[in-house]
Amino acid sequence: MRITLKQVQCRLHEARSMNFDIIIIGGSFAGMTAALALPRDLKIAVIEKQDIVNHDRKRDGRAYAISSASLKLFHKIGIYDELQTHAGKISDIKITDHNSPFILDFLGREVDEKEDQLGQIIENFHIYNALRNQMLQRENIKIFSPNFYQKIEFLDDVKLELDDGKILEAKLLLACDGRLSRLRELYQIYTTRKDYHQTAIVFNISHQHPHQNVAYEKFFPGGPLAILPFKDQHQSSIVWVAKDEIAQAIIELDDKNFIHQLQTKMEDCLGEIEVISEKFSYPLFAIEADKFYFEKMLLVGDAACGVHPIAGQGFNLAISGIKILCELLEQNLFCGLKISAQSLIDAYNKKAKITAKKMLIATDILNSLFETKNFPISLARGFGLGLVNKLPRLKNFFIKSAGGF
Ligand SMILES: Cc1cc2nc3c(=O)[nH]c(=O)nc-3n(C[C@H](O)[C@H](O)[C@H](O)COP(=O)(O)OP(=O)(O)OC[C@H]3O[C@@H](n4cnc5c(N)ncnc54)[C@H](O)[C@@H]3O)c2cc1C
Repeated sequence: MRITLKQVQCRLHEARSMNFDIIIIGGSFAGMTAALALPRDLKIAVIEKQDIVNHDRKRDGRAYAISSASLKLFHKIGIYDELQTHAGKISDIKITDHNSPFILDFLGREVDEKEDQLGQIIENFHIYNALRNQMLQRENIKIFSPNFYQKIEFLDDVKLELDDGKILEAKLLLACDGRLSRLRELYQIYTTRKDYHQTAIVFNISHQHPHQNVAYEKFFPGGPLAILPFKDQHQSSIVWVAKDEIAQAIIELDDKNFIHQLQTKMEDCLGEIEVISEKFSYPLFAIEADKFYFEKMLLVGDAACGVHPIAGQGFNLAISGIKILCELLEQNLFCGLKISAQSLIDAYNKKAKITAKKMLIATDILNSLFETKNFPISLARGFGLGLVNKLPRLKNFFIKSAGGF
């Protein structure tokens, strides 16, 4: 039997072409969490340009504050137990302002007597590796890594060509390609960017006194200093935010002066300290996409909205968006509707955008409020801390927000 050239081309196309329900571009925190949280009867492809299968992620200085609400999702997707070997509990958050005698104290047990923690502190590479390990065990997820897309077409479905010539087709595409999303740029989604002209210097310390699961946020003009408790009672993660030029000078300090400056900022709250990791720095800026979709592509995680890390909420916000998407998909599947229905895309855009906007405004105001040296504002801020501490209902509202309830 003779086979025509057309038939050969057709068979080749079939061999290279694969069908999925959802394709995710970007296999990092948002992309992997989404892949694991999406309904398990959906067939999912994850495309990541770095090799996530053969390489463990290394320390990048960042330890994430994970809210109670996000921890519930960690339970659901099967990474909670693995992470407990590395997780530090936050049972108390103490907030101070550099020139105010007041301390605002959030205790975990004030939220709920059964709940003894407000969240957990976990170095992000542990979370990343746990997500990756879980993903490798899931039959409904296929990982393409290291790979990137060459061409994307939005027809009835989404058709995508990879760098190695494979063709993937799906009903929906999730853009999880981070704060500097190329996909957002490619489809000209208008994006607002705010530069804070601040840099976060992040690293780990060991300290003389046990932290007793207390997280400290100390506000100074120029930026806050966060001390986040690790599982080891004598180790914490530091996020030291300063104006860009000051941050550069801090990084260039010799070890002795660096420790001295840090110790002074920490107001000696944990006794003698020592830096026990490499130092990393991150320029801080916020971004917000004007809309969280294009055709059948949804923006998820930092690709949709990236916030100031002042309250440690960026990845938690990505998780809120993923939860919104999962609920909508489950509803559509239950009702026998298409998972790429325009009503789902509109509902995701509306709900995820409102959640992100609230977080963006809150973190932005918090940073501006505490950054200013303006005397009336700093005076009011000092009284404000004392006042919130004395008003149980207002305090409870803040505690619940911090825990992500
Ligand atoms: C100093 C600092 C402290 C922070 N602390 C906290 C905290 O305490 N708690 C918290 O919740 N959040 C925190 N965050 C925020 C958190 O880091 C981000 O919200 C989170 O990393 C966003 O994850 P993402 O997956 O959306 O993006 P990313 O982690 O940036 O991942 C994007 C992925 O897409 C891949 N990619 C890009 N283009 C392509 C392509 N063309 N093809 C294939 N793959 C591609 C990239 O390789 C990458 O793996 C902090 C951030 C900073 C800077």
